[in-house]
Amino acid sequence: MTARQPLIIGVTGGIASGKSTVARAFAQHGIPWVDADDVAREVVAPGEPALAEIRRRYGPRVLHEDGHLDRRALRDIVFADTAERRWLESVTHPRIRQRLGEHLEDFRRRDVPYVLLVSPLLFESGQYELVDRALVIDVPESLQIERTARRDGVDEAQARAIVAAQMPRDERLSRADDVLVNEGDERRLADQVAELDRQYRALGGLPPAR
Ligand code: ADP
Repeated sequence: MTARQPLIIGVTGGIASGKSTVARAFAQHGIPWVDADDVAREVVAPGEPALAEIRRRYGPRVLHEDGHLDRRALRDIVFADTAERRWLESVTHPRIRQRLGEHLEDFRRRDVPYVLLVSPLLFESGQYELVDRALVIDVPESLQIERTARRDGVDEAQARAIVAAQMPRDERLSRADDVLVNEGDERRLADQVAELDRQYRALGGLPPAR
């Protein structure tokens, strides 16, 4: 008999929609997660082939003295240049996806009810192919801008520009299997996550947690 395979739930949403907060709320139910942003940093760590490729293309100006990637310098290069951004994504995205797959495999070997893959670029990067369901965290844009500005110390215009550069809200919602509307307080969020936890356990053929 083959072991039960835990479902993989992709959690996505725009900046400051509440992805990390939601992941922490699921952790209260014993659910592990892997964060695509952490893995994106892993694949460009010193010694990684992606970092060597980036250095070959842009030279030492994108490295700190200690050999780590200067993410801000790289961002300045690719932010305004679509061709360079595409090149960078072609170097990093496949490696991020592969590494995420390895992390998820490790989780699958453990006895967990289901697993989260938390990623701002679930739909844009092909990571969508790694998950069984997509949970979109949705907030009204005004609240998203307010939470971005407060958390990241940017002004409203900057927060608005970041939101405008991301996948449109409607498109993200159209690709969701489940939607968590995160416009209440953290207590409301905890209740919504508890309900989703019940649903995901049921989908995986598991009894509700006590
Ligand atoms: P993301 O990971 O999607 O960028 P975060 O989880 O970091 O978003 O949330 C963005 C900010 O909004 C954080 O400062 C967080 O504490 C706050 N926040 C998220 N959800 C809620 C909520 N339901 N009530 C109040 N503040 C929230």
